[in-house]
Amino acid sequence: MKKIALLILITTFGCLSYAQVTQLKRCSTYEKMEELRAQDPEAFDVKKSEQEQILQDWIKTEYPNWVVQRGGNVITIPVVVHIWDSTSTVPDARVYEQIITLNEDFRKVNADTLSGDTSSIPEIFDVVRADTEIQFCLASTDPNGNPTTGIIRQTVGGSPGGSEMWDYESYLNIFVYDLGGFALGFTQLASGNPNYAVHIDPNYFGNTSDFTYNLGRTATHEVGHWLDLNHIWGDNNCGNDQVSDTPTQEQSNYSCPSHPNITCSNDGDMFMNYMDYTDDDCMNMLTEGQKVRMIAAINNYRPGLLSSSGCSGSRVDAAFSASNTYVFEGSSTNFIDESIGIGSNWNYRWEFNGGNPSTSTDQNPTNITYDNVGHYTVVLYIDSAEVSDVEVHSYEIFVYDENTGVESDIMKVDFTVFPNPSSGKFTVTLDEGNSEIIISDITGKVILNKIITSQNVIDIDLTNESNGSYFVHIKTDNYTSVKKIQLIK
Ligand SMILES: [Zn+2]
Repeated sequence: MKKIALLILITTFGCLSYAQVTQLKRCSTYEKMEELRAQDPEAFDVKKSEQEQILQDWIKTEYPNWVVQRGGNVITIPVVVHIWDSTSTVPDARVYEQIITLNEDFRKVNADTLSGDTSSIPEIFDVVRADTEIQFCLASTDPNGNPTTGIIRQTVGGSPGGSEMWDYESYLNIFVYDLGGFALGFTQLASGNPNYAVHIDPNYFGNTSDFTYNLGRTATHEVGHWLDLNHIWGDNNCGNDQVSDTPTQEQSNYSCPSHPNITCSNDGDMFMNYMDYTDDDCMNMLTEGQKVRMIAAINNYRPGLLSSSGCSGSRVDAAFSASNTYVFEGSSTNFIDESIGIGSNWNYRWEFNGGNPSTSTDQNPTNITYDNVGHYTVVLYIDSAEVSDVEVHSYEIFVYDENTGVESDIMKVDFTVFPNPSSGKFTVTLDEGNSEIIISDITGKVILNKIITSQNVIDIDLTNESNGSYFVHIKTDNYTSVKKIQLIK
């Protein structure tokens, strides 16, 4: 469908010449590496050859040990996205989409092959298709240890641009800005220059309306380079990409060829590999060999990623309050969401132990009824697909028997409150010391808090408080007991 649309566009606007169509490069990482090489070609080639030997040796001798030591844990790479553009052009939602795409592609859960669609991956390639066990998080902790959204929007003198790269040893930096129409994206290989970011044009970042490069696979391709993957044709005629389970192929493929597309006496080009140049909806796999190469590159060139704290914080903080923390048997209370964080489309899941209903997916559930005395836990789970985060907050509701007046079934410490009702001054008498006395109002707001060490008769003055119900809590190390007191002045 989209190719038909492109054809119509070309036909309608005849001035769009073939040369102009092909001017846009899928990727200019090769040219960026050539720029690096041009500084001293001989030294570059020697270094490259030495590095390749070290990497291959590591794969042979160290990789098996690394797998055992890692114990099945995946590598999570913190990502900071610098957007040198307006919010409206690349909204946060596009950044979240892009992170999801990276994770799906690198973890082999991309929807375009999940259903076992063998037409998109021939069987001979499906057997080497890899879950790379490398994944990505939008950074939640910045290099100074502070919480962050992982998204930097920067302008200089009113123009986009200018934010500084975060510590390249601990983060993947992605710069999103207008690349001037010459390429979709570029970076430099980890072996050539570890201190380099991934650069992507906003028209190809996340899910976009572009005809052919609309699914966020420019980032998948460039991050592959950033982790030292070569183009699948080895940037040479029947070249070597230094990965054994990708077939030798003559050159890059565009659009979406049919399998088998035989070149260099292979059984068909692996044009559906993310490191080819095909359309976004034509590419859908990385291989086991590419996985091992990327893991070797991380260990050799970017080891800081393995201990980065960039993903350690939380971007969603679940919190809520109740209209009544202390309720009478058979009565109800409401809950008010007070969570903070980034992203939208949060999912709420409430569990009301002892409450009716016992669950809710509302943001602010109302009329949760408690039929039996006791104290009960309320738990709120929040998650958002956009930020891949789940946070939990729990809370206690105390339920009292209105007829017997003051006692709950969790009474463990004996004490008296006299007089009750009170005009504001009353006495609490305890059997034992070493406890804490807390006076709260009906919503749970603490009015008074006092540590009691030895005395067991405590005078309380609430004459400055309004008329109404209050609760006297006595807390010891193991128990809490509560009595209600009525203030009538
Ligand atoms: Zn490339």
